Amino acid sequence: MELEAFGHIPKAGMERTRATFHDVIRATEVHRYLAVIVENVPDVVDRWELFDWWADGLRRLRPGHRVQFLSVNSAHVGDDGNPFAPQWRDRLKMVFTRWDVPAPNLTLTPRAFCQHCDHDVAATQTWAPSTAHKPYRVGRYRRDPGSNYGQYRYTCPDPRCGRRVEPYVLPAASAIDLSDLGRRIGDMSRQPAAKPSPVSGPDSLSPHTRPPSPPARTCSSATPTTTTPASTPPPPNR
Ligand SMILES: [Zn+2]
Repeated sequence: MELEAFGHIPKAGMERTRATFHDVIRATEVHRYLAVIVENVPDVVDRWELFDWWADGLRRLRPGHRVQFLSVNSAHVGDDGNPFAPQWRDRLKMVFTRWDVPAPNLTLTPRAFCQHCDHDVAATQTWAPSTAHKPYRVGRYRRDPGSNYGQYRYTCPDPRCGRRVEPYVLPAASAIDLSDLGRRIGDMSRQPAAKPSPVSGPDSLSPHTRPPSPPARTCSSATPTTTTPASTPPPPNR
């Protein structure tokens, strides 16, 4: 888990990271935030039967909130001071702001090269006509030009052009340390897991009576080993 990189998270704490939607309303009712930003997958709008109820609840909390939906792929977010994420993740940002504060400009204009105009452009997010009549215009990026999967794409902002453009992205290779080959999975499974010693009684699962941890792996070769922790390059994110 990415969160574990900052230290172990108890099971109860991990469960709390999932109890977000209802908690947003409860916390906003108490603290009356100027702005609330919630992130989830775009499908939540269609798949969660209480989504309308939830969004309306935030709107109603005095003094009232406006809501703006931003559908974005993580690969397209970044600038000179904020490196682009080298991964494809379609996300929906739900931005609630109180009516007594100015609405933020959430227009997406990722930089892209237009082959027809022969220069970089600030691309325009262009939605499929099928999304025009939906209660919420949210969706995923249509990566494949010939595919119907996805609800929006990016186009050249020049009205004389308007052709599809592809924003700049970072390749997944930029996040992979190819000098760290890690340890093969097959090598890791050769040593059978140590069987726990037989224990009985009501305290058999208490921390004090758990069997000791399996001994650390040893190498039968005469070659000295290092203590550098092995790691496996992450799979390419899709
Ligand atoms: Zn163009």
